[in-house]
Amino acid sequence: MNHFEIREVPGKGRAMIATKNFAVDEIIFEEEPFVSHQFSWNAAYGYAACDNCMRPLETLVENVRRLANNNAIVVPLVEHDPTAVWVPQFTQCQRCKVRYCSEDCLVYAKNKYHQVACMGAFRSDDTHPINVLNETWKKMHYPPETGTIMLIVRLMAMYKQSKNKPEFLEQLQSFQALIVNREQKIYHKLLGEKFEQQMEQLYTAFCNAFNDEEFAMFTTPDAFKTLMGILGTNSQGIATSVLAQWVTKVTDLPLPEADKKQLDTVIDGLYEKVGDFVGEFLNNEGSGLYILQSKINHSCVPNAQSTFPYSNDLVVLKAVAPIQQGDEICISYLDECQLERSRHSRHKILRENYIFVCQCTKCRAQASDPDVTSDEEEDDEDMEFDDDDDME
Ligand SMILES: [Zn+2]
Ligand SMILES: [Zn+2]
Ligand SMILES: [Zn+2]
Repeated sequence: MNHFEIREVPGKGRAMIATKNFAVDEIIFEEEPFVSHQFSWNAAYGYAACDNCMRPLETLVENVRRLANNNAIVVPLVEHDPTAVWVPQFTQCQRCKVRYCSEDCLVYAKNKYHQVACMGAFRSDDTHPINVLNETWKKMHYPPETGTIMLIVRLMAMYKQSKNKPEFLEQLQSFQALIVNREQKIYHKLLGEKFEQQMEQLYTAFCNAFNDEEFAMFTTPDAFKTLMGILGTNSQGIATSVLAQWVTKVTDLPLPEADKKQLDTVIDGLYEKVGDFVGEFLNNEGSGLYILQSKINHSCVPNAQSTFPYSNDLVVLKAVAPIQQGDEICISYLDECQLERSRHSRHKILRENYIFVCQCTKCRAQASDPDVTSDEEEDDEDMEFDDDDDME
């Protein structure tokens, strides 16, 4: 049973309201994604993840050695490698060879989308329209990635394979629709400076990949923009890491103080070696659309947080502050550094990426602060927004 409800709040729109009290760290809900997909460059660079749930497909040692580009690295306490549970269950699609963490994921994928999405031997054919579409996207969207056109490709396969198309469309439409004349700003952020030209190229590649009559409702220019808008404003980043999961496990071990110190040194050393080679790109990364989670509004003082404790795409929403019955449950759409910035800076990021003006308690309390922008944002100042550009 859920202990929250989605309600219309006057002047605010849709909101998630707690129907009981939650203590800090308490789980509010767990949710599987409506759709998820690994990022395109992340996959191309060999970050091995289950094609369905994004669970890592490398053992701890393989992961560390690949990330550090060093096959001599030794990792202690490998008996706590979290993948030991999954490795014996690894499987793959016999036709196209995409890999899954388990028979369950293979069956789920086949039932939901993979019968349509399976490219068989064409998976490695650069001229296949789906691969052309993905390459077109990759050329526009270099790492660090925030989205992938492959999420939309998977949605199309889900639609085609769905036995209840009206229900599928209703679920898809439950993701916040955008007001047309504001969409341009989202594309700018998704595709960069030359977005109009890029949008055109991407749209052409999309139409080539889905020229079947069955997809006609998605291949109009407006429908394509709406899909891109859903991707831009609703998708939640997902990061999974064998190394991080192992670190969580071993640092919780009841070890003597001296051993703990030594282990910390080893872990620091591993991260240093890995960081020297891959920099910040430690994780299998992708994004997903979540029907419930996407209904949660933003606050600059959030009382909840989306977490991925199982190293797959299952999102777990946890309370990070005490929540009283009747309170709105809010997460932050901004990362920790962004949250520390001035009200003016926060508002700018939220407007550009999510098209709304934040009215949370912190923003209201800072309403009279001067409009200061930190140095790092000055490059970004080419985008002009009217401060009264409110959604209400
Ligand atoms: Zn899986
Ligand atoms: Zn296949
Ligand atoms: Zn705020």
